[in-house]
Amino acid sequence: MPYVFSVYIAVTLATGVALLLVWRHDRKQSFTALLGLSHLIWTAYPLSYLAARSPQPVWQVMGLMGLSVVPSLCLILMVKGIGLLSGRHVSRRHLQILFVALLLAHGAIMGHDMGLAQAGSATINITISFIVANWLRKQGPGERFTGVLLVLAGLNQFNFVFQPGDQGAMTQTAVATVLRLMLAMSLMYAALTRSAEAGRRVRDRFFQLTDRSPQGVAVVIADHVVYVNPAFRSIYGMDRVDQAPRVFSPEWLNLTTPSTARKPIQQLLAQVNNGSLPLAEWEGERTSLDNRQLYLRYKAWNVEWDGEPALQVVVSDDTAQHEAARALMWHATHDELTGLHNRSALLQRLRDLFDDPQQPAFALILLDVDRFKLFNDAHGPAVGDEVLKALSTQLLQTLGERADLMRLGEDEFALLLVAPDTEAAARQLTEDIQALLTQPLTLSAHRFFLDVSMGVALHPGAANSPYALLQAANAAMLDAKRLPGTSVQWATETARNGLAAFFDAEQALRAGFEKDEFVLVYQPKVAAQGHRLVGFEALVRWDRPGVGRISPLDFIPAAERNGLIVPLGALILTQACRQMAQWREQGLPLVPVAVNVSPLQLLDVQFPAAVMKTLQQFQLPPQWLTLEITETAAVAHMDQAREQISQLRQQGVDVALDDFGTGFSSLNMLRSLPLHTVKIDRSLIDPMPESHAVAVVKAICDLAAVLDLDVVAEGVETAAHAEAARAAGCHALQGYHFARPLDVPDATQWLQAHA
Ligand code: C2E
Ligand code: CA
Ligand code: CA
Repeated sequence: MPYVFSVYIAVTLATGVALLLVWRHDRKQSFTALLGLSHLIWTAYPLSYLAARSPQPVWQVMGLMGLSVVPSLCLILMVKGIGLLSGRHVSRRHLQILFVALLLAHGAIMGHDMGLAQAGSATINITISFIVANWLRKQGPGERFTGVLLVLAGLNQFNFVFQPGDQGAMTQTAVATVLRLMLAMSLMYAALTRSAEAGRRVRDRFFQLTDRSPQGVAVVIADHVVYVNPAFRSIYGMDRVDQAPRVFSPEWLNLTTPSTARKPIQQLLAQVNNGSLPLAEWEGERTSLDNRQLYLRYKAWNVEWDGEPALQVVVSDDTAQHEAARALMWHATHDELTGLHNRSALLQRLRDLFDDPQQPAFALILLDVDRFKLFNDAHGPAVGDEVLKALSTQLLQTLGERADLMRLGEDEFALLLVAPDTEAAARQLTEDIQALLTQPLTLSAHRFFLDVSMGVALHPGAANSPYALLQAANAAMLDAKRLPGTSVQWATETARNGLAAFFDAEQALRAGFEKDEFVLVYQPKVAAQGHRLVGFEALVRWDRPGVGRISPLDFIPAAERNGLIVPLGALILTQACRQMAQWREQGLPLVPVAVNVSPLQLLDVQFPAAVMKTLQQFQLPPQWLTLEITETAAVAHMDQAREQISQLRQQGVDVALDDFGTGFSSLNMLRSLPLHTVKIDRSLIDPMPESHAVAVVKAICDLAAVLDLDVVAEGVETAAHAEAARAAGCHALQGYHFARPLDVPDATQWLQAHA
């Protein structure tokens, strides 16, 4: 018997410890821990039995206590285990009460009949084992078998019930030894399967995260790549080439990374390696293995991979965003048609040159094509574009490395030449361009002789700021326009003085605007038939203290140059509307008032809304206002002009095309713009009634009749003009013959007479 007991104790102790070790490894398996603990406690059971059989009363009492305490304690552990398995928490207090109850019941029955006590304990054990076995049924094979063994262990307790005495105790112990061994083995098997399962889940998750990641991920240990995800391969196009070189091999680096980029990256990575930098970030252009240009961003940091220090590299493909940003940048600094740098790029270059501490000498040459509008009108804008492209190609060839060529606007180019002997170099260059243009420009279907006008400004000398230098070159270029053929003018000292005066005037203009020195005069328009008043044209004057009344011809261009025309135009519009409101208050019958609009105002998309707001401010119906826009402005910006004019007309404001006959536009344009009125320029009225002039005016009037346009003749200075214009078909007449532009009191008298 001692032999059987010893084996039992040894096995139970060993399996108990083993189960506790499993639990220590994976703390989530608490049930295993409780079972291990109960194994350890069960070792006391045979010892208690031996003690209870001792003749010594002390041992007897202790033995009997052990026989009660051990099964009760293990039962409590089982209950706690079931609680954990089923996810229910059994409180410590409940467990204590249960323990005391079990102990008392057990002790009481055992004092009476040991077999009966054993039977009670066995029944409870079996019941609980059944519950556990039922729960474990749904789990793995290891767990299922554990359940069966627990039930068997409960049944085994009946051995002693049916065969009381040492024989029964021995049989029961021997069977229990085997059962406990098997129990421990099956539980350990279950624990192992479970932890292997958990490991696999973690690995699966990792691969799912990295495999589906759009970012490339690589893990590198001491220059050896131990892992790359599919995104990494596809970013570098490794899937698309038959034999991709090993990732990070020298061959791969040569193919994908520019050599200049490598050293700084290596330095960064060394810092990450030695821990002085937690995260390295860099970016740059790369070539994929299937030859696509990429823009990639990288991040790298230290990780542990299979217990070894490693580097994790994450690559994001930023090519699309980078391309978009680059395209935006390109458009901001380049001219689309010719691919040359544009005006803002030139200004930046000039600013850089002015800021350069070495103060390099340079020349700015502005070049403008003469009569370019004629090309557009005669041959259409497509040919015009072709001319500009061909010219820019020819100029680039002529310049070579000597100067940079830029396109500033429609037919305006700039050349920037940085050289020690600037003047001689610029002279040579302009001569070469003159020589170039003695040859015709050959296009796909045309050959043209082209003339250009060039203005040269040298630095140092011509001006003190980029903007002033541009102005100086521009003034010289405009001077050159007066000379026939391809011509050059130099921004000289006198031009500089002129510039100073010009800036003076500009300053005064601003001051005049602040001080409200602008007034409106009103020139009547009369009906061609009967000469009654049909409207006024509002014309601006600048009453400059100490100087006198200044003509708009002298300050409107300056206001257009410095942008003051926009607030000034708004002021003029407000004044005209206020005047109409005043006349209405005085009870006079209103006639429409025409206000002149600069192209700069018209091209402001806010303009139509601003006009409507002003009308509302004075509660004027839109039909009392006419806006006059010059023909040249409408031609130069046809599409924008059309949009703005349409909006105004939809709101009920009439739009007249001013100075008709002075621009290069065709009659066709009359049809394409949503106009109400056309004003024939003074230059066409003046020669009347000469027959050619009459024929031209009549043709315009006939066309206008077809297009349902009103026709106003401007500059009617004589009765003969008035009669010829009427006969040709003009509806209204305006000119000194009827009235000069009038101050408000005189204009008011006209209105009263009209009433
Ligand atoms: P415009 O719009 O063609 O105005 C007609 C010009 O011809 C006015 O000169 C007027 O005084 C002048 N004129 C009228 N009848 C006769 C005539 O029988 N014979 C001659 N020789 N001239 C006559 P003004 O007032 O000096 O204006 C000149 C130009 O200035 C205007 O030409 C217009 O383009 C511009 N302008 C005038 N006022 C404004 C304005 O308020 N805003 C804008 N943006 N431009 C204005
Ligand atoms: Ca006008
Ligand atoms: Ca006019």
